[in-house]
Amino acid sequence: MVSDDLLEILRCPYCVSGETRKPGDDPGQLQLVRDSWLVCQEPDCGRKYPIRDEIPVMLIEEGEKWMDMDAEDLPVPPPGK
Ligand SMILES: [Zn+2]
Repeated sequence: MVSDDLLEILRCPYCVSGETRKPGDDPGQLQLVRDSWLVCQEPDCGRKYPIRDEIPVMLIEEGEKWMDMDAEDLPVPPPGK
């Protein structure tokens, strides 16, 4: 189980850095889905980050593998590499 403290500070890496940073004071907020995924809440992002062995995998390339899948269709537990 990922701690609330950790969730509080994690953000979608795509939406918080560089030229792809989204507007607003606190872009790239994530929603925990079934204790297994962190889903970016920016409307035009759609990146989803798996939590493997209780460690969120906050890699943009990983999040992009799941962009086209609805949050409710994400596999639990997330598949390994
Ligand atoms: Zn994002």
